[in-house]
Amino acid sequence: MSDNILIIAAHPDDEVLGCGGTIVRHVCKGDNCYITILAEGITARDNIRNSDNRKLELDTLKGQSKKVARLLGAHEVEFNSFPDNRMDSINLIDVVKVVEKAIDKFRPDIIYTHHYADLNIDHQITAKAVETATRPIIGKTHFVSEIYSFEILSSTEWSFANQHCHFHPNYFVDINESLEIKIEALSLYRSEVNDFPHPRSYEAVVNLSKIRGSQAGLYAAEAFSLIRKII
Ligand SMILES: [Zn+2]
Repeated sequence: MSDNILIIAAHPDDEVLGCGGTIVRHVCKGDNCYITILAEGITARDNIRNSDNRKLELDTLKGQSKKVARLLGAHEVEFNSFPDNRMDSINLIDVVKVVEKAIDKFRPDIIYTHHYADLNIDHQITAKAVETATRPIIGKTHFVSEIYSFEILSSTEWSFANQHCHFHPNYFVDINESLEIKIEALSLYRSEVNDFPHPRSYEAVVNLSKIRGSQAGLYAAEAFSLIRKII
């Protein structure tokens, strides 16, 4: 039986870094994968946000996300326009409403999203909004069975100061067969990839997949933290 899978990511490229190989596996199994991206990207580079000034780059980024979704085999990627790296300027309830709308539309059995202890503020808010939007309340029109946090290089492992909460993976997906497509998808986001030893580099992405694989007796894996599972 096929499942509906929803990836709720803060920024374009998080869906690839967090679970690109896992998306490919779901698609191969016959699942329907959908991607919702909450923030628009790029405008964090400016001291004062003006998305009109960055329209061309934002459109290019959206085009790249659509190509990535096609390459991974996802059915649809939808975009929202929360301010990049400034989502703490938005009331949480407004983010929750957007997440609820995506859940109503795509009716996911499984959600992959951010970890709430990430350094990046948009990742934290996304994780909080998903947790709020998926409260298991009786009588809800749609019930999400499984929710997983993924890790994002340059954010999850850079949360040094948070002594009380860390990403502890307990769910591993073998991506040995899909790692090549993940790297190809990442290459479509040219502007988001840096040179090694930056964590958002091809080498670091491959290295992390090997480390996560070795934790689970696999050659390459994506690692997740199970937030909740209800069967
Ligand atoms: Zn991000």
